[in-house]
Amino acid sequence: MTEGLTIGFIGLGNMGRPMTARLAGAGHRLLLLDLDRARTEALATELGQQAAASLSDLGARSDVVITMLPDGRTVRKVLLGESGDGTGGVAGTLAKDAIVVDMSSSSPVGTRELGEVLAARGIRLVDAPVSGGVRRAVDGTLAIMVGGDPEVVERLAPVFAPMGKPMLAGGLGAGHAIKALNNYVSAAGLLAACEAVRAGARFGLEPATIVDIINASTGVNNSTLVKMKPFVLSGSYADGFGLALMAKDLRTALEVAQATGMETALAGTVVEVWNEAERRLDAAQDTSVHHTAIDRYLDLLGRG
Ligand code: NAD
Repeated sequence: MTEGLTIGFIGLGNMGRPMTARLAGAGHRLLLLDLDRARTEALATELGQQAAASLSDLGARSDVVITMLPDGRTVRKVLLGESGDGTGGVAGTLAKDAIVVDMSSSSPVGTRELGEVLAARGIRLVDAPVSGGVRRAVDGTLAIMVGGDPEVVERLAPVFAPMGKPMLAGGLGAGHAIKALNNYVSAAGLLAACEAVRAGARFGLEPATIVDIINASTGVNNSTLVKMKPFVLSGSYADGFGLALMAKDLRTALEVAQATGMETALAGTVVEVWNEAERRLDAAQDTSVHHTAIDRYLDLLGRG
C-alpha cells in the first residue's frame, strides 16, 4: 500500500523535523502541518514537500497520518476537532481505510478511547511512540514501540523503516504504555546520576571522573553514558527533550501503574520531583528548558 502514498505529518518540533527529513530522504511524499505556520512553510521548502493548508486539507489528501505532538490531548483535538465530532479535524475528511499513526508519547488510556472513535469511522489507529531523542531521530535509528493490529502494523513497515526500528509491543495502547514506563526508568536513572555526581563533587571528587568510573561500573545507565557529560557537566542542558514533556510521561507511567491497582515504592516520588522541577523552572511555559535541567532543580534545592 505504501507505493505512491501520501503521508500527512503533524507536529514539526524537535522530533518531527528530523523524522520528516528521514521520510522525505527515503522518497515518501509528505504533507506537512504545524501550529507554527512559518515553521511548516520553512520545512516544506527545505525538504521539497508540500505544506497542508489546514487539518481538513491534510485529512483529505493523506493515506497515512502521523502525529508527533506534545501529548494525547493535542492528538485527539487535531484528529477530532475542538467539538470532538471530527468537524475541523483530520478525521472529518480522512478516507475510510486510512491509517493514523500516533508517534507522540500519549497516554495509553486515551489512545484506546481514541481508537474506538476512529474505528467507528473506518479509520485505523496505531500507536508508535519513539525513544532515542533528537540524535537518533536524525540518524534514523529510533526505537519505535508499536501497538495495534499486526496486519495494519505490517503494512506500515516502509513508513517506519527510514525512522528507526519498529518493535511490536502488543495491541492498541501497548506502545504508549511501554514508552511511559521506559521514560520512568530513564528519568529515575538521570535523577540518580545527577544526585550522585552532585554528592560526589561536594565530597571533593572530580565530576568527569565520577561519570567515567560509574560508566565502567554497575551504576552505568543511558544517562551516565550519553547525557551527563554533554548536557549536565557542560552546563548546556540543551538535550532537545522538554522537561515538561518528561514530567508528562512520568505522570502517565504512574497512571498506568495505578490503573492496575499496583502500589509503587518509587514512582510517586520520582513524579513529585519532576512535577516540582517543572514548576520551579517554569518548564511548562518555557519549552527551551530541557529534561537534563533536572540537575538545575537539584541545584535550586541545594540552595534552599
Ligand atoms: P516539541 O515541543 O519540540 O514539538 C511539538 C510540535 O507540535 C511543535 O512544533 C508545536 O508547534 C506543534 N503543535 C503543538 N500543538 C499543535 C497543534 N494543535 N496542531 C499542530 N501542531 C501543534 O516536542 P518534541 O520534542 O518534538 O516531542 C514530540 C513528542 O515526542 C512528545 O510527545 C514527546 O514527549 C515525544 N518525544 C520527544 C523526544 C525528544 O527527545 N524531544 C523523544 C522521544 C519522544
